[in-house]
Amino acid sequence: MAYPVTPSPHSPVSPENSQQDVTNTPLLGASFAELTQWVQQQGQPAYRGRQLHNWIYQKGARSLSEISVFSKSWREALVDVPIGRSTLHYRSQAPDRTVKYLLRLADGNIIETVGIPTANRLTVCVSSQVGCPMACDFCATGKGGFTRNLQRHEIVDQVLTVQEDFGQRVSNVVFMGMGEPLLNLETVLAAVQSLNQDIGIGMRSLTISTVGIRDRIRQLAEHKLQLTFAVSLHASNQQLREQLIPSAKHYPLADLLQECRDYVKITGRRVTFEYILLAGLNDQPEHGIELAQHLRGFQSHVNLIPYNPISEVDYQRPSPRRIQAFVETLEQHNIAVSVRRPRGLEKDAACGQLRASTV
Ligand code: SAH
Repeated sequence: MAYPVTPSPHSPVSPENSQQDVTNTPLLGASFAELTQWVQQQGQPAYRGRQLHNWIYQKGARSLSEISVFSKSWREALVDVPIGRSTLHYRSQAPDRTVKYLLRLADGNIIETVGIPTANRLTVCVSSQVGCPMACDFCATGKGGFTRNLQRHEIVDQVLTVQEDFGQRVSNVVFMGMGEPLLNLETVLAAVQSLNQDIGIGMRSLTISTVGIRDRIRQLAEHKLQLTFAVSLHASNQQLREQLIPSAKHYPLADLLQECRDYVKITGRRVTFEYILLAGLNDQPEHGIELAQHLRGFQSHVNLIPYNPISEVDYQRPSPRRIQAFVETLEQHNIAVSVRRPRGLEKDAACGQLRASTV
C-alpha cells in the first residue's frame, strides 16, 4: 500500500549523506530502496541493500558488525552506524500471556510496549511519544507529562522486539501505547509505511488511535491509507468530554465529529469510536442515547473500553450488567458496538495503564 512518501528527517538517504559522511542516523525503518541507495553511496554493489534489509528486518541484527556477509573491512568502517534497536529494561508477563516491555532508547528515555497474543493473532500496542501532552484525566500516561516524540526507528523497533520475544510473526499493530500519534503524524506515517512494507503487516491490521487534534484527522485522511482509524470519543456531550479530556475545550465535539465525517468521505473507510466506560459518569442510558444520536447515519463502529484502574484517580469500572445495558442501548439505536476485553490488567499493561515505570 504505497502512499506519497514525505521526506523523513530520519531518512538515512537524506541529501546531506555523502559517501564519506557515514551518518549516525539509525537504519531501522528505512525501506529496501533507501537501504540500496545507502549501500551504493558507500561504494557497495546494490545487492548489499537486499542483504542489509534482510539482516535488519528478518534476522534482527542489532549492530552492523553482526552482518557476517559483509566484508570485515566494511564492517569496521560502519562501526558507528546504528541500526537503532532499543534495549530491554524490564519485561513482565500477565496470567493472560500479555507481555509488557519497558524499552530503553538510545538517549536513556524509557517507553512502554505491550504484546497481546490471542489464538491466531499477535497484536503489538506501540507508543508514539515518550509520555503524552494530552493529560486525559483517566490515563496514567497523561499523568506523567510529555518528554518528546519518538522517531521512526523507535516505533519500528517496538514491533520487532515483540516479534522476536514471542518468536511469532506480529499480525496487528495498534498505536494505543504512550502518546498521541497525530502529534507525531509524519513520523507515525513513516513507521506505518515500514511496518507494512518491511515487516509485512497488512495495512488493514494497523490501527491509529487519536484523541482528536484539529485538522490532523483530515491530514491523515488525505493519505488515503487502508488502515484502521479510531477516535477516543469517551463522552456523549461537550461538557462531559471537557471534564475528561482537557484538549476538548479547544476542539469542540461538533468540530471533531465533522472532521471524522470528512475522514469517511475522503477515505471511504469507517471510523471506530472508542468510548471509555466510567461508572456513574458516562455509562447511563441517556449517554448511550445521546451518543447514538451523534452517530446516526455515520459509517462507524463503537468500541467500549471498560475503565482500567489507575492509582491517581478514583473512577470506577461499571458492573458487567451496566456495560451490557449500555451495549443494548446502542444496539437498539442501530449502532455497531463491541466491548474491548481488558488484557494484561494484572501487570498494568492494559489500556491507559502505561507509565514507563516498573512500580
Ligand atoms: N492518544 C491516543 C492513544 C491512547 S491509548 C488516544 O487518545 O486515542 C488508547 C486508548 O486507551 C484510548 O482510547 C484511551 O483513551 C484509552 N484509555 C486511556 N486510559 C484508560 C484507562 N484508564 N482505562 C481504559 N482505557 C483507557
